[in-house]
Amino acid sequence: MSAVVTRFAPSPTGLLHSGNYRTAVFAYLFARSSGGKFVLRIEDTDRERSKPEYEENIIESLQWLHLEYDERYRQSEHGTRHREVLEKLISSGFAYLSKEEAGDTKRNEVIRFKNPNIRVSFEDAIRGTVSMDTTDLGDFVIAKSIDEPLFHLAVVVDDWDEGITHVIRGEDHISNTPRQILIQQAIGAQTPVYAHLPLVLSQDRSKLSKRRGAKSLLEYRDSGYLPEALLNYMALIGWNPGTEQEIFSKDELCHAFSLAQIQKSGAIFDETKLAWINREHMLRMSPEAFWEHAEEFLTEETVTMLDAKNLWRDAVGLMRERASTFGDIRTADLAGEYRYLYERPVLPVSFLGWKGEDPSHALPHLRQVLELLEPLGDVWGAETVKAAVWPYAETEGRGQVLWPMRVALSGREKSPDPFVIAGIIGKDETLARLRAVLGSDDAVSCSERLG
Ligand code: GLU
Repeated sequence: MSAVVTRFAPSPTGLLHSGNYRTAVFAYLFARSSGGKFVLRIEDTDRERSKPEYEENIIESLQWLHLEYDERYRQSEHGTRHREVLEKLISSGFAYLSKEEAGDTKRNEVIRFKNPNIRVSFEDAIRGTVSMDTTDLGDFVIAKSIDEPLFHLAVVVDDWDEGITHVIRGEDHISNTPRQILIQQAIGAQTPVYAHLPLVLSQDRSKLSKRRGAKSLLEYRDSGYLPEALLNYMALIGWNPGTEQEIFSKDELCHAFSLAQIQKSGAIFDETKLAWINREHMLRMSPEAFWEHAEEFLTEETVTMLDAKNLWRDAVGLMRERASTFGDIRTADLAGEYRYLYERPVLPVSFLGWKGEDPSHALPHLRQVLELLEPLGDVWGAETVKAAVWPYAETEGRGQVLWPMRVALSGREKSPDPFVIAGIIGKDETLARLRAVLGSDDAVSCSERLG
């Protein structure tokens, strides 16, 4: 059997969404899993609707996903070849010029394919035998003029010329296939293997579409998803690896993928699942790679300060805890959630009170915490701080002790536990923040000082 060649053949008539790119992912994975080639063909024969910016967007999206293609074509550049085939079809009697009435006066000429009116059957790699009677299709139009081929003609000629062995495309093309096979037979082209993929559905089970709010692929990039997560997730829409594994690297996908494990029924695009997969990929990144990526989403101040204080590695640890996307990290940063790592917080005194208690109740506890921490030596860290404070907190009430301690260190209603923060900001800064809250002379009550 000849080496596998697949293609992705998008029309640059709009921004494509993940349902469209899922086709590219499957065609790519199948090519790579069988040591074959992957071709990108921009189908821009619809001159009015095709736009260069959409083509650029397709190329950028494939680059972002790391779906590198071996060859790239633009359908409109094959005009001479399409014309040659059309002329041959006409001269050999497979097609003919047909005068059409357009409106009242104008007469137009199109090229119609002479339908042999037969039943056409093909083996679909996903659906098995598909058989359709083509009689109802009549003599269908294959070109608006000798220089304006339509979809069926162009797609068949280009697949043939580009040596495409497997046409992997959306199920919505199934009804086009018999017409394309008739054209193949007329021009002597081999029929490729067809694999019509199940539809990608939105949560309400309608077909995923731009009109119904499906996002373009690069919107995911801009809101902080990783390309490897999108690739991983898209591969699972309609394909089942046959194991429990859900998180795949690109290499693993290339090895595991097969057409045989593609399901027939439509598959839902689930944003929650995608976010979970993205989080899993974020958790697997090295701290260096994570920070490099996070830098694009954080404010300049946060990046500069965390770098300058050499706290970026600790910050990465905190960021990983809660975020599903780098967009979540951006949101947290804009809300000031990482600021206390590099800057002494200014806190409203009312924050110190555990569950609405008078904040002044917190002060003796904070004074005690300070005393427990002052003697700690060089082995400062979340664990040692915890070991020093925990027995006291257990006796006096965890909330009563740990809440004001955490708030004194972070200045925030929500933040990681006080031991983690103390571990990150270090001994000097931890003691300084506690002292600041207690007042410099250690005698003024908090409410007097701040209230
Ligand atoms: N250009 C067609 C589309 O965007 C795809 C053609 C094909 O895959 O055969 O739907």
